[in-house]
Amino acid sequence: MTDITLVRGDITEQAVDAVVNAANSSLLGGGGVDGAIHRRGGPQILAACRELRSSQYGRGLPAGQAVATTAGRLPARWVIHTVGPVHSEQEDRSALLASCHRESLRRADELGAETVAFPAISTGVYRWPLADAARIALTTVRQTQTRVIEVRFVLFDDPAYTVFRDTLDALGPA
Ligand code: ADP
Repeated sequence: MTDITLVRGDITEQAVDAVVNAANSSLLGGGGVDGAIHRRGGPQILAACRELRSSQYGRGLPAGQAVATTAGRLPARWVIHTVGPVHSEQEDRSALLASCHRESLRRADELGAETVAFPAISTGVYRWPLADAARIALTTVRQTQTRVIEVRFVLFDDPAYTVFRDTLDALGPA
């Protein structure tokens, strides 16, 4: 069974098999966690993303999908880039946010990654309310069949950590 762990910290410092990036569909880098991953991981990651752009994702990676690249200089083997949905008041995009988590784990299984670190996808620039994002992320990981042994949510600040902790506690034992 997959163990879900929560840490407060910086995802670029996690020694895991795969780090999930909350990318944007261009795959060419951005702010937030995406910027931090490219800065710390070095130019190899961007080169691999450009390659994917030209070979398979000319129109960009659609929200809810995931692709893997090298992790460059990060203390991980791979980066799995997934594009979260922008939160909308008009439209329920929860299925896309769930898909990010499911598809990232599917990529992890393809790679043989046993430890995977996730950020709180869509909760930054994409404005998803933290408690709702935490509920979707945690329930989706719990419901996904995967060979990943540890899914580690890496929360960048105390409020995010607390919300994920409370949400996981409220879900009760797996
Ligand atoms: P999105 O566009 O999907 O909203 P962001 O990068 O803007 O992505 O934010 C996603 C979450 O990642 C936010 O909760 C933000 O605080 C967090 N974050 C930013 N930098 C890091 C980092 N180095 N490690 C872990 N989480 C981070």
